Amino acid sequence: MSELIIRGPLVHGEAESWPEKDVHIVDGRIHSISPRSKLEKKVELLEFPESYHLIPGMIDMHIHGAEQADVMDASVEALSTISQALLKEGTTSFLATTMTESSEKLSKVLSTVKQFIDSKNTQGAEILGIHLEGPFISPHKIGAQRGDALHVPDINLFDEWQNTAGNHIKLVTLAPELPHAKEFIEHLVKNNVIASLGHSNASFIEAKMGIDAGIRHATHLYNAMSGLHHQEPGAALAILLDDRVLAELIADGIHVHPDMLKFTLKVKGSQHLVLVTDAMRAKCCGEGEFELGGQAVVVRNGEARLKQNGRLAGSVLKMNQAFKNMLRFSQCTMQDIIKMVSSNPAKALHIFDQKGSIAIGKVADLVVLNEEYQVVATLRQGKLVYGF
Ligand SMILES: [Zn+2]
Repeated sequence: MSELIIRGPLVHGEAESWPEKDVHIVDGRIHSISPRSKLEKKVELLEFPESYHLIPGMIDMHIHGAEQADVMDASVEALSTISQALLKEGTTSFLATTMTESSEKLSKVLSTVKQFIDSKNTQGAEILGIHLEGPFISPHKIGAQRGDALHVPDINLFDEWQNTAGNHIKLVTLAPELPHAKEFIEHLVKNNVIASLGHSNASFIEAKMGIDAGIRHATHLYNAMSGLHHQEPGAALAILLDDRVLAELIADGIHVHPDMLKFTLKVKGSQHLVLVTDAMRAKCCGEGEFELGGQAVVVRNGEARLKQNGRLAGSVLKMNQAFKNMLRFSQCTMQDIIKMVSSNPAKALHIFDQKGSIAIGKVADLVVLNEEYQVVATLRQGKLVYGF
């Protein structure tokens, strides 16, 4: 039996935060959260200042890479690099996110991710599945995706890929205005895959029809989609108005204006938002020239842009920074922010009974943050995997 006690930081639970509590972890799970008491036997103790915070491990539903590695590299080493790098920012689980590419290339990527997941690696953050970002997206809202590999929604092609991926595709970003989208969305829903509106030029009505067909997620709300205009409300308003849809936000203050983030939280509520990084391989690597989906990207002043046309090309955002930004921009509570980085993604992926909050019986994926929201320690399954 392995035992560990975390003592000191303010413990942030689902409904309230508790000072002066011991979080007792037994065999990788949270065993108890109780008032500090004298240790009766010799137990490993991790002690931190009382000004620190204990939060559940963050879950990034949209992440392409970090530390020079990208999911599209189609290598186990790259996935291992990413999953270990993410621990440093407090991410303990994520969806490995693909880019629009040829079917052959994607198949190779999907089988590599399957291989990695099946190996049950516990050194880094856990890959919960795959986020397929394209190719079923609009040529008018291509963003930094490759235009020459787009495809109309195709059930047979998806089934082929899902087979290659060992059923690990959990989320598909698509444009609902494309031909065959309705049947495609219904097929995803039937197969327990989340349909996400993204890279879409859908009108308000088209977006609404997509949501009625089963869309329950929105990929980087506002970015690469028909926006919010008072006479042409677009897909963004359909998402804001419908509580069935969980919307991703890239809270770097660049992809979405800080006050727009504040506005979004006010109208949508923390239970319907999820913070993602959409980070690419340049994360943690300083400034310079990098690659994303076969295109050159320049990173400068914390912005990643395509060299060719200056369009935003993913981000170099870290989850703990997104956490800090959203707190600062919106003045929300710790309970609000934890929903957006951990509880909501866990619920969407149907693992909230295991992860997504600090509660007795749950897997001890935990993060200790200091007063500046820097990651001091990360635990996965009750084991210290980063810091301290
Ligand atoms: Zn992306």
